[in-house]
Amino acid sequence: MKKIALIGIPFDENSSYMRGTALAPPFIREAFYTDASNSYTESGIDLSKEGLINDRGDMIAPGFERIESSIAAALEEGLAPLSLGGDHSITYPILRAFRRFYPQLAILHFDAHPDLYHDFQSNPHSHASPFARIMENRLASRLVQIGIRTINAHQWEQAKQFGVEVIQMKEFQPTRIFEFQQPVYVSFDMDALDPAFAPGVAHREAGGLSTREVLQIIQSLRGKVVGADIVEFNPKMDSSGITAATCAKLLKEIASKILEE
Ligand code: MN
Ligand code: MN
Repeated sequence: MKKIALIGIPFDENSSYMRGTALAPPFIREAFYTDASNSYTESGIDLSKEGLINDRGDMIAPGFERIESSIAAALEEGLAPLSLGGDHSITYPILRAFRRFYPQLAILHFDAHPDLYHDFQSNPHSHASPFARIMENRLASRLVQIGIRTINAHQWEQAKQFGVEVIQMKEFQPTRIFEFQQPVYVSFDMDALDPAFAPGVAHREAGGLSTREVLQIIQSLRGKVVGADIVEFNPKMDSSGITAATCAKLLKEIASKILEE
């Protein structure tokens, strides 16, 4: 059983529309450690048990190089990194670190957006482009996207070029089970969820997944989850605190998946 390194990455410099996701990690931690809930996952693992989660706090002044090296350091110690973003651009340096340890890696990517722009606002590292950079650099052998409901002609071309398996929201079947032969990295953009469940995002896109559908997908996933990120939570858009609570729930259930086996 792999233990988890919990790493906050307060970084939002590549957000295209609104900043604020750099503020997310402390809000997610607060919701994760709150006495309003216990520390058990739905599968019955007590996450407060000594050593299961090595909480490394939040990175100081993160940039791409520092993100890559701290993720690599956690992997070096045999831990499974679970990062709390930050905007979605951080997944590229995270995956650069993973590729050194996992030459075969699948990505299960939850998002309203495919994030496959070749060039968005002349920023190659825009949060609208991480999966273009990941696939160009062959950091993943398989990319499966769920929750997509904003894909345009350019991004369809990119998806075809890179062999991305795009599961659009309009054709999503809640009973579908995802199976992976390779180790799996889960990249979770909070806007994959319907804004009714997770309003705390910059790019609200109606018609998304429910929290329970997401948990169902994660819990029924067949494959070995070796790392994950939870990105794009923007506390400035979360007046009720419900999105922070949802991030914490996802954190617990993804952690459970990493710890199972
Ligand atoms: Mn998104
Ligand atoms: Mn995204």
